[in-house]
Amino acid sequence: MQNDPDVLILGGGVIGLACAHYLLQAGRSVRIIERGQAGAATSHGNCGTITPSHAPPLAAPGTVLKALKWMATPDAPLYVKPRPDPVLAYWLLRFAARCNHRDWRQAGLAKAALLHQSRALIEELVQRFELDCEFQASGVRYIYRDMGEFERACRELPALAEFGIATRVINSVELARDEPALRPGMAGAIEYPGDAHLRPDRYSAELARQVREQGGVIEEGVEVTGFITEPGRLIGVKTGDGPRRGRDVIAAFGPWSPTMLRQLGLKIPIQPGKGYSITYSRPTLAPRMPIVLKERSVCVTAWGSGYRLGSTMEFSGYDDSLNRRRLDALERAANEYLLEPVGPVKQEEWFGWRPMTWDDLPILGAVPGWKNLWLATGHGMLGVTLSAGTGQLLADLICGRNSAVDPQPYRADRF
Ligand SMILES: Cc1cc2nc3c(=O)[nH]c(=O)nc-3n(C[C@H](O)[C@H](O)[C@H](O)COP(=O)(O)OP(=O)(O)OC[C@H]3O[C@@H](n4cnc5c(N)ncnc54)[C@H](O)[C@@H]3O)c2cc1C
Repeated sequence: MQNDPDVLILGGGVIGLACAHYLLQAGRSVRIIERGQAGAATSHGNCGTITPSHAPPLAAPGTVLKALKWMATPDAPLYVKPRPDPVLAYWLLRFAARCNHRDWRQAGLAKAALLHQSRALIEELVQRFELDCEFQASGVRYIYRDMGEFERACRELPALAEFGIATRVINSVELARDEPALRPGMAGAIEYPGDAHLRPDRYSAELARQVREQGGVIEEGVEVTGFITEPGRLIGVKTGDGPRRGRDVIAAFGPWSPTMLRQLGLKIPIQPGKGYSITYSRPTLAPRMPIVLKERSVCVTAWGSGYRLGSTMEFSGYDDSLNRRRLDALERAANEYLLEPVGPVKQEEWFGWRPMTWDDLPILGAVPGWKNLWLATGHGMLGVTLSAGTGQLLADLICGRNSAVDPQPYRADRF
Protein backbone atom coordinates (compact mmCIF):
# COMPACT_ATOMS: atom_id res chain seq x y z
CA MET A 1 0.00 0.00 0.00
CA GLN A 2 1.35 3.43 -0.91
CA ASN A 3 1.89 6.20 1.63
CA ASP A 4 2.34 4.17 4.79
CA PRO A 5 1.45 6.49 7.67
CA ASP A 6 3.58 7.31 10.69
CA VAL A 7 0.90 5.73 12.86
CA LEU A 8 -1.58 3.01 11.96
CA ILE A 9 -4.58 3.04 14.30
CA LEU A 10 -6.65 -0.14 14.64
CA GLY A 11 -10.25 0.64 15.55
CA GLY A 12 -12.17 3.83 14.79
CA GLY A 13 -14.16 4.31 18.00
CA VAL A 14 -13.96 7.49 20.00
CA ILE A 15 -10.55 6.40 21.34
CA GLY A 16 -8.96 5.65 17.94
CA LEU A 17 -10.39 8.90 16.56
CA ALA A 18 -9.09 11.01 19.46
CA CYS A 19 -5.62 9.43 19.13
CA ALA A 20 -5.66 10.28 15.43
CA HIS A 21 -6.61 13.89 16.11
CA TYR A 22 -3.84 14.55 18.64
CA LEU A 23 -1.23 12.76 16.52
CA LEU A 24 -2.18 14.91 13.53
CA GLN A 25 -1.87 17.97 15.76
CA ALA A 26 1.63 16.75 16.62
CA GLY A 27 2.53 16.58 12.92
CA ARG A 28 2.24 12.79 12.44
CA SER A 29 0.37 11.18 9.55
CA VAL A 30 -2.29 8.62 10.54
CA ARG A 31 -4.47 5.91 9.02
CA ILE A 32 -7.40 4.39 10.91
CA ILE A 33 -8.59 0.89 10.00
CA GLU A 34 -12.22 0.36 11.04
CA ARG A 35 -14.22 -2.73 10.14
CA GLY A 36 -17.59 -0.96 10.39
CA GLN A 37 -18.28 2.74 10.45
CA ALA A 38 -16.19 5.06 12.61
CA GLY A 39 -17.88 5.65 15.97
CA ALA A 40 -20.69 3.17 15.28
CA ALA A 41 -19.83 0.55 17.93
CA THR A 42 -19.56 1.19 21.69
CA SER A 43 -19.05 4.90 21.06
CA HIS A 44 -22.48 5.26 19.44
CA GLY A 45 -25.40 4.81 21.87
CA ASN A 46 -23.79 5.60 25.22
CA CYS A 47 -25.09 8.28 27.57
CA GLY A 48 -22.68 11.01 26.45
CA THR A 49 -21.90 12.33 29.91
CA ILE A 50 -18.45 13.79 30.58
CA THR A 51 -17.90 12.87 34.19
CA PRO A 52 -14.77 13.52 36.24
CA SER A 53 -17.23 12.86 39.08
CA HIS A 54 -16.88 9.14 38.22
CA ALA A 55 -13.29 9.06 39.50
CA PRO A 56 -14.15 6.83 42.49
CA PRO A 57 -13.55 3.29 41.18
CA LEU A 58 -16.29 0.67 41.02
CA ALA A 59 -14.12 -1.65 43.11
CA ALA A 60 -14.88 -0.07 46.48
CA PRO A 61 -15.34 -1.43 49.99
CA GLY A 62 -18.87 -2.89 50.08
CA THR A 63 -19.22 -3.40 46.30
CA VAL A 64 -19.08 -7.20 46.50
CA LEU A 65 -21.93 -7.35 49.02
CA LYS A 66 -24.02 -4.92 46.97
CA ALA A 67 -23.32 -6.93 43.80
CA LEU A 68 -24.39 -10.18 45.48
CA LYS A 69 -27.65 -8.58 46.58
CA TRP A 70 -28.28 -7.25 43.07
CA MET A 71 -27.65 -10.66 41.56
CA ALA A 72 -30.75 -11.97 43.29
CA THR A 73 -32.84 -9.33 41.46
CA PRO A 74 -33.46 -10.20 37.78
CA ASP A 75 -33.63 -6.60 36.48
CA ALA A 76 -30.99 -5.08 38.80
CA PRO A 77 -28.34 -2.78 37.27
CA LEU A 78 -25.63 -5.45 37.66
CA TYR A 79 -25.89 -8.99 36.33
CA VAL A 80 -23.38 -11.81 35.95
CA LYS A 81 -24.68 -14.61 33.76
CA PRO A 82 -23.92 -17.86 35.62
CA ARG A 83 -21.73 -20.00 33.36
CA PRO A 84 -18.41 -21.85 33.50
CA ASP A 85 -15.97 -19.20 32.29
CA PRO A 86 -12.58 -19.36 34.05
CA VAL A 87 -11.39 -16.11 32.44
CA LEU A 88 -14.41 -14.21 33.77
CA ALA A 89 -14.11 -15.94 37.17
CA TYR A 90 -10.46 -14.83 37.42
CA TRP A 91 -11.41 -11.28 36.37
CA LEU A 92 -14.14 -11.13 39.05
CA LEU A 93 -11.74 -12.43 41.72
CA ARG A 94 -9.15 -9.79 40.83
CA PHE A 95 -11.90 -7.16 40.91
CA ALA A 96 -13.14 -8.37 44.31
CA ALA A 97 -9.60 -8.32 45.72
CA ARG A 98 -9.43 -4.60 44.96
CA CYS A 99 -12.57 -3.74 46.95
CA ASN A 100 -10.56 -2.20 49.78
CA HIS A 101 -9.82 1.40 50.75
CA ARG A 102 -6.15 1.43 49.73
CA ASP A 103 -6.69 0.21 46.14
CA TRP A 104 -9.86 2.30 45.81
CA ARG A 105 -7.99 5.49 46.77
CA GLN A 106 -4.95 4.76 44.60
CA ALA A 107 -7.00 3.96 41.48
CA GLY A 108 -9.30 6.91 42.19
CA LEU A 109 -6.38 9.37 42.23
CA ALA A 110 -5.02 7.93 38.98
CA LYS A 111 -8.45 8.04 37.32
CA ALA A 112 -9.09 11.58 38.53
CA ALA A 113 -5.87 12.93 37.00
CA LEU A 114 -6.75 11.76 33.48
CA LEU A 115 -10.47 12.51 33.84
CA HIS A 116 -9.94 16.16 34.83
CA GLN A 117 -7.40 16.73 32.09
CA SER A 118 -9.60 15.06 29.50
CA ARG A 119 -12.69 17.03 30.55
CA ALA A 120 -10.76 20.29 30.01
CA LEU A 121 -9.32 19.08 26.68
CA ILE A 122 -12.76 18.08 25.35
CA GLU A 123 -14.14 21.56 25.96
CA GLU A 124 -11.10 23.12 24.29
CA LEU A 125 -11.37 20.68 21.35
CA VAL A 126 -15.06 21.37 20.85
CA GLN A 127 -14.57 25.14 20.93
CA ARG A 128 -11.35 25.39 18.93
CA PHE A 129 -12.39 23.00 16.16
CA GLU A 130 -16.08 23.93 16.30
CA LEU A 131 -17.25 20.35 16.82
CA ASP A 132 -21.02 20.38 16.35
CA CYS A 133 -21.92 17.79 19.02
CA GLU A 134 -24.30 19.55 21.44
CA PHE A 135 -21.59 19.90 24.10
CA GLN A 136 -22.76 21.66 27.25
CA ALA A 137 -20.82 22.36 30.44
CA SER A 138 -24.04 21.51 32.24
CA GLY A 139 -23.01 19.57 35.32
CA VAL A 140 -24.66 16.25 36.22
CA ARG A 141 -27.02 15.49 39.12
CA TYR A 142 -27.53 12.29 41.09
CA ILE A 143 -31.17 12.10 42.17
CA TYR A 144 -32.20 10.18 45.30
CA ARG A 145 -35.74 9.04 46.15
CA ASP A 146 -34.72 7.35 49.36
CA MET A 147 -33.75 9.63 52.27
CA GLY A 148 -31.46 7.01 53.83
CA GLU A 149 -29.51 6.59 50.56
CA PHE A 150 -29.30 10.37 50.11
CA GLU A 151 -27.98 10.95 53.62
CA ARG A 152 -25.45 8.13 53.25
CA ALA A 153 -24.20 9.62 49.96
CA CYS A 154 -23.90 13.07 51.57
CA ARG A 155 -21.78 11.62 54.38
CA GLU A 156 -19.38 10.13 51.79
CA LEU A 157 -18.85 13.43 49.95
CA PRO A 158 -15.73 14.56 51.88
CA ALA A 159 -13.86 11.54 50.44
CA LEU A 160 -14.42 12.94 46.93
CA ALA A 161 -12.59 16.18 47.70
CA GLU A 162 -9.26 14.36 47.46
CA PHE A 163 -10.14 13.47 43.83
CA GLY A 164 -10.75 17.17 43.09
CA ILE A 165 -14.48 16.65 42.58
CA ALA A 166 -16.67 19.68 43.38
CA THR A 167 -20.14 18.88 44.72
CA ARG A 168 -23.31 20.73 45.70
CA VAL A 169 -25.98 19.20 47.91
CA ILE A 170 -29.56 20.08 46.94
CA ASN A 171 -32.38 19.45 49.40
CA SER A 172 -35.82 18.22 48.40
CA VAL A 173 -37.45 21.69 48.44
CA GLU A 174 -34.77 23.28 46.26
CA LEU A 175 -34.76 20.28 43.94
CA ALA A 176 -38.53 20.42 43.41
CA ARG A 177 -38.21 24.11 42.56
CA ASP A 178 -35.20 23.71 40.31
CA GLU A 179 -36.04 20.55 38.32
CA PRO A 180 -39.68 20.54 37.16
CA ALA A 181 -39.17 17.29 35.24
CA LEU A 182 -39.03 15.28 38.50
CA ARG A 183 -42.00 13.75 40.29
CA PRO A 184 -42.76 15.33 43.67
CA GLY A 185 -41.27 13.72 46.78
CA MET A 186 -37.60 13.18 45.84
CA ALA A 187 -35.26 13.04 48.85
CA GLY A 188 -32.62 15.31 47.32
CA ALA A 189 -29.77 15.49 44.85
CA ILE A 190 -26.01 15.82 44.63
CA GLU A 191 -24.82 18.01 41.80
CA TYR A 192 -21.40 17.68 40.15
CA PRO A 193 -20.92 21.09 38.52
CA GLY A 194 -17.63 20.09 36.86
CA ASP A 195 -19.33 17.48 34.65
CA ALA A 196 -20.68 18.07 31.15
CA HIS A 197 -22.41 16.23 28.33
CA LEU A 198 -22.49 15.90 24.55
CA ARG A 199 -24.19 13.81 21.90
CA PRO A 200 -21.75 10.91 21.47
CA ASP A 201 -22.63 9.90 17.89
CA ARG A 202 -22.21 13.54 16.81
CA TYR A 203 -18.92 13.80 18.73
CA SER A 204 -17.46 10.76 16.91
CA ALA A 205 -18.73 12.03 13.55
CA GLU A 206 -17.19 15.45 14.17
CA LEU A 207 -13.89 13.94 15.31
CA ALA A 208 -13.85 11.86 12.12
CA ARG A 209 -14.51 15.00 10.05
CA GLN A 210 -11.66 16.79 11.80
CA VAL A 211 -9.28 13.87 11.28
CA ARG A 212 -10.07 13.81 7.55
CA GLU A 213 -9.80 17.60 7.22
CA GLN A 214 -6.33 17.46 8.78
CA GLY A 215 -5.23 14.88 6.20
CA GLY A 216 -5.79 11.70 8.24
CA VAL A 217 -7.14 8.63 6.42
CA ILE A 218 -10.06 6.64 7.83
CA GLU A 219 -10.72 3.37 6.05
CA GLU A 220 -14.19 2.08 6.92
CA GLY A 221 -15.46 -1.41 6.18
CA VAL A 222 -11.92 -2.83 6.37
CA GLU A 223 -11.41 -5.57 8.96
CA VAL A 224 -8.11 -6.44 10.62
CA THR A 225 -7.80 -10.22 10.30
CA GLY A 226 -4.23 -10.80 11.49
CA PHE A 227 -0.83 -9.30 12.20
CA ILE A 228 2.42 -9.17 10.24
CA THR A 229 5.34 -9.38 12.62
CA GLU A 230 9.09 -9.77 12.88
CA PRO A 231 10.73 -10.48 16.24
CA GLY A 232 9.79 -7.65 18.64
CA ARG A 233 8.20 -5.52 15.93
CA LEU A 234 4.79 -5.21 14.33
CA ILE A 235 5.25 -4.54 10.64
CA GLY A 236 1.57 -4.16 9.89
CA VAL A 237 -1.78 -5.91 9.77
CA LYS A 238 -3.57 -8.21 7.38
CA THR A 239 -6.99 -7.05 6.23
CA GLY A 240 -9.63 -8.32 3.83
CA ASP A 241 -8.35 -5.58 1.50
CA GLY A 242 -4.65 -6.45 1.71
CA PRO A 243 -1.92 -5.49 4.19
CA ARG A 244 -1.66 -2.13 5.94
CA ARG A 245 1.56 -0.87 7.50
CA GLY A 246 2.67 1.91 9.81
CA ARG A 247 5.85 2.92 11.64
CA ASP A 248 3.93 2.78 14.93
CA VAL A 249 0.68 0.92 15.55
CA ILE A 250 -2.01 1.77 18.14
CA ALA A 251 -4.46 -1.00 19.01
CA ALA A 252 -7.77 0.69 19.93
CA PHE A 253 -10.13 -2.26 19.48
CA GLY A 254 -12.23 -1.33 22.56
CA PRO A 255 -14.11 -4.39 23.91
CA TRP A 256 -12.67 -6.59 21.16
CA SER A 257 -9.09 -6.01 22.38
CA PRO A 258 -8.65 -9.39 24.14
CA THR A 259 -9.77 -11.45 21.14
CA MET A 260 -7.77 -9.47 18.59
CA LEU A 261 -4.57 -9.17 20.61
CA ARG A 262 -4.57 -12.82 21.66
CA GLN A 263 -3.16 -13.43 18.17
CA LEU A 264 0.00 -11.64 19.33
CA GLY A 265 0.16 -13.74 22.50
CA LEU A 266 -1.07 -10.83 24.65
CA LYS A 267 -3.49 -11.47 27.51
CA ILE A 268 -5.57 -8.31 27.84
CA PRO A 269 -7.64 -8.40 31.06
CA ILE A 270 -10.79 -6.85 29.63
CA GLN A 271 -14.32 -8.18 30.05
CA PRO A 272 -17.23 -6.83 28.00
CA GLY A 273 -19.59 -5.04 30.43
CA LYS A 274 -22.83 -4.92 28.51
CA GLY A 275 -25.03 -1.85 28.82
CA TYR A 276 -28.27 -0.81 27.16
CA SER A 277 -29.84 2.44 26.04
CA ILE A 278 -33.10 3.63 24.51
CA THR A 279 -33.20 6.84 22.49
CA TYR A 280 -36.35 8.87 21.91
CA SER A 281 -37.34 12.20 20.48
CA ARG A 282 -37.09 14.81 23.23
CA PRO A 283 -40.01 14.97 25.70
CA THR A 284 -41.47 18.40 26.42
CA LEU A 285 -40.50 18.15 30.10
CA ALA A 286 -36.90 16.85 29.93
CA PRO A 287 -34.41 17.27 32.81
CA ARG A 288 -32.36 20.49 32.59
CA MET A 289 -29.10 18.57 32.86
CA PRO A 290 -28.18 14.85 32.75
CA ILE A 291 -29.39 13.02 35.84
CA VAL A 292 -28.58 9.65 37.37
CA LEU A 293 -31.55 7.93 39.01
CA LYS A 294 -29.41 6.71 41.83
CA GLU A 295 -31.33 3.84 43.38
CA ARG A 296 -31.83 2.36 39.87
CA SER A 297 -28.45 3.37 38.38
CA VAL A 298 -30.10 4.73 35.25
CA CYS A 299 -28.68 7.75 33.42
CA VAL A 300 -31.00 10.20 31.66
CA THR A 301 -29.50 12.56 29.08
CA ALA A 302 -31.44 15.11 27.07
CA TRP A 303 -30.06 16.98 24.08
CA GLY A 304 -31.75 19.50 21.80
CA SER A 305 -31.96 16.65 19.28
CA GLY A 306 -33.14 13.80 21.51
CA TYR A 307 -33.37 11.99 24.81
CA ARG A 308 -31.72 8.80 26.12
CA LEU A 309 -32.12 6.37 29.02
CA GLY A 310 -29.09 4.16 29.61
CA SER A 311 -27.74 1.73 32.17
CA THR A 312 -26.98 -1.79 33.37
CA MET A 313 -23.72 -3.70 33.65
CA GLU A 314 -24.10 -7.25 32.47
CA PHE A 315 -21.21 -9.71 32.38
CA SER A 316 -22.57 -12.19 29.87
CA GLY A 317 -19.59 -12.49 27.52
CA TYR A 318 -20.09 -11.31 23.96
CA ASP A 319 -23.80 -12.11 23.99
CA ASP A 320 -25.29 -9.83 21.34
CA SER A 321 -28.99 -10.19 22.15
CA LEU A 322 -31.13 -7.25 23.25
CA ASN A 323 -32.58 -8.29 26.61
CA ARG A 324 -36.19 -7.06 26.76
CA ARG A 325 -36.33 -7.26 30.56
CA ARG A 326 -33.34 -4.93 30.88
CA LEU A 327 -34.68 -2.49 28.31
CA ASP A 328 -38.05 -2.40 30.08
CA ALA A 329 -36.25 -1.84 33.40
CA LEU A 330 -34.88 1.44 32.00
CA GLU A 331 -38.37 2.76 31.31
CA ARG A 332 -39.72 1.48 34.65
CA ALA A 333 -36.93 3.27 36.51
CA ALA A 334 -37.51 6.52 34.60
CA ASN A 335 -41.21 6.29 35.44
CA GLU A 336 -40.41 6.21 39.18
CA TYR A 337 -38.60 9.56 39.02
CA LEU A 338 -39.85 11.54 36.05
CA LEU A 339 -43.20 13.07 35.13
CA GLU A 340 -42.53 12.48 31.43
CA PRO A 341 -40.24 9.41 31.56
CA VAL A 342 -39.98 8.74 27.82
CA GLY A 343 -40.09 10.82 24.65
CA PRO A 344 -42.96 10.74 22.13
CA VAL A 345 -41.09 8.67 19.50
CA LYS A 346 -38.82 5.73 20.30
CA GLN A 347 -35.91 5.96 17.86
CA GLU A 348 -33.42 3.27 18.86
CA GLU A 349 -32.88 0.38 21.27
CA TRP A 350 -29.17 -0.32 21.64
CA PHE A 351 -26.54 -2.23 23.57
CA GLY A 352 -22.79 -1.76 23.82
CA TRP A 353 -19.94 -3.59 25.54
CA ARG A 354 -17.88 -1.42 27.86
CA PRO A 355 -14.23 -2.54 27.78
CA MET A 356 -13.85 -3.20 31.53
CA THR A 357 -10.53 -3.72 33.35
CA TRP A 358 -10.58 -5.07 36.90
CA ASP A 359 -8.71 -2.04 38.31
CA ASP A 360 -11.05 0.40 36.52
CA LEU A 361 -8.14 2.14 34.76
CA PRO A 362 -7.55 2.23 31.00
CA ILE A 363 -4.57 0.46 29.44
CA LEU A 364 -2.46 3.10 27.71
CA GLY A 365 1.07 2.97 26.40
CA ALA A 366 3.79 0.78 24.95
CA VAL A 367 3.46 -3.00 24.93
CA PRO A 368 6.43 -4.63 26.62
CA GLY A 369 8.49 -6.69 24.20
CA TRP A 370 7.26 -4.78 21.15
CA LYS A 371 9.15 -1.80 19.75
CA ASN A 372 6.27 -0.05 18.01
CA LEU A 373 2.99 -1.38 19.42
CA TRP A 374 0.86 0.83 21.68
CA LEU A 375 -2.40 0.11 23.49
CA ALA A 376 -5.29 2.54 23.95
CA THR A 377 -8.11 0.49 25.41
CA GLY A 378 -9.93 -0.56 28.60
CA HIS A 379 -11.87 2.69 29.10
CA GLY A 380 -14.82 0.95 30.73
CA MET A 381 -17.68 3.26 31.61
CA LEU A 382 -15.74 6.40 30.72
CA GLY A 383 -14.41 6.18 27.17
CA VAL A 384 -16.08 9.36 25.94
CA THR A 385 -14.91 11.32 28.97
CA LEU A 386 -11.37 9.96 28.68
CA SER A 387 -11.14 10.27 24.88
CA ALA A 388 -9.25 13.56 24.54
CA GLY A 389 -6.94 12.84 27.49
CA THR A 390 -6.13 9.44 25.97
CA GLY A 391 -5.45 10.94 22.54
CA GLN A 392 -3.16 13.58 24.00
CA LEU A 393 -1.29 11.05 26.16
CA LEU A 394 -0.73 8.57 23.29
CA ALA A 395 0.48 11.41 21.04
CA ASP A 396 2.90 12.54 23.77
CA LEU A 397 4.20 9.01 24.34
CA ILE A 398 4.64 8.23 20.64
CA CYS A 399 6.33 11.58 19.98
CA GLY A 400 8.60 11.13 23.00
CA ARG A 401 7.26 14.27 24.72
CA ASN A 402 6.61 14.81 28.41
CA SER A 403 2.91 14.47 29.16
CA ALA A 404 0.87 16.62 31.53
CA VAL A 405 -0.51 13.46 33.18
CA ASP A 406 1.80 10.81 34.65
CA PRO A 407 1.34 7.74 32.35
CA GLN A 408 2.60 5.23 34.95
CA PRO A 409 -0.75 4.09 36.43
CA TYR A 410 -2.11 3.14 32.98
CA ARG A 411 0.92 1.20 31.67
CA ALA A 412 0.25 -2.07 29.87
CA ASP A 413 2.70 -4.11 31.97
CA ARG A 414 0.92 -3.52 35.31
CA PHE A 415 -1.09 -6.76 35.13
C1 LIG B 1 -24.84 1.94 28.08
C2 LIG B 1 -23.50 2.65 28.05
C3 LIG B 1 -23.43 3.96 28.51
C4 LIG B 1 -22.21 4.63 28.52
N1 LIG B 1 -22.18 5.94 28.91
C5 LIG B 1 -21.01 6.63 28.90
C6 LIG B 1 -20.98 7.99 29.30
O1 LIG B 1 -22.01 8.60 29.63
N2 LIG B 1 -19.78 8.64 29.30
C7 LIG B 1 -18.61 8.00 28.95
O2 LIG B 1 -17.54 8.62 29.02
N3 LIG B 1 -18.62 6.71 28.53
C8 LIG B 1 -19.78 6.01 28.50
N4 LIG B 1 -19.81 4.69 28.12
C9 LIG B 1 -18.54 4.02 27.78
C10 LIG B 1 -18.08 4.35 26.36
O3 LIG B 1 -19.14 4.15 25.46
C11 LIG B 1 -16.88 3.44 25.98
O4 LIG B 1 -15.90 3.45 27.00
C12 LIG B 1 -16.23 3.92 24.69
O5 LIG B 1 -17.19 4.05 23.66
C13 LIG B 1 -15.13 2.96 24.24
O6 LIG B 1 -14.57 3.46 23.04
P1 LIG B 1 -13.56 2.62 22.16
O7 LIG B 1 -13.14 3.48 21.02
O8 LIG B 1 -12.53 2.03 23.04
O9 LIG B 1 -14.44 1.37 21.65
P2 LIG B 1 -15.41 1.27 20.36
O10 LIG B 1 -16.22 2.48 20.19
O11 LIG B 1 -16.11 -0.03 20.44
O12 LIG B 1 -14.35 1.24 19.18
C14 LIG B 1 -13.59 0.09 18.86
C15 LIG B 1 -13.67 -0.05 17.35
O13 LIG B 1 -12.84 -1.13 16.92
C16 LIG B 1 -13.45 -1.68 15.78
N5 LIG B 1 -12.91 -3.03 15.56
C17 LIG B 1 -13.01 -4.11 16.38
N6 LIG B 1 -12.41 -5.18 15.82
C18 LIG B 1 -11.91 -4.75 14.63
C19 LIG B 1 -11.20 -5.39 13.58
N7 LIG B 1 -10.85 -6.68 13.64
N8 LIG B 1 -10.83 -4.65 12.51
C20 LIG B 1 -11.15 -3.33 12.42
N9 LIG B 1 -11.84 -2.68 13.37
C21 LIG B 1 -12.22 -3.38 14.47
C22 LIG B 1 -14.94 -1.71 16.15
O14 LIG B 1 -15.75 -1.80 14.99
C23 LIG B 1 -15.10 -0.39 16.88
O15 LIG B 1 -15.57 0.66 16.05
C24 LIG B 1 -21.03 3.98 28.08
C25 LIG B 1 -21.11 2.67 27.58
C26 LIG B 1 -22.32 2.00 27.57
C27 LIG B 1 -22.37 0.61 27.01
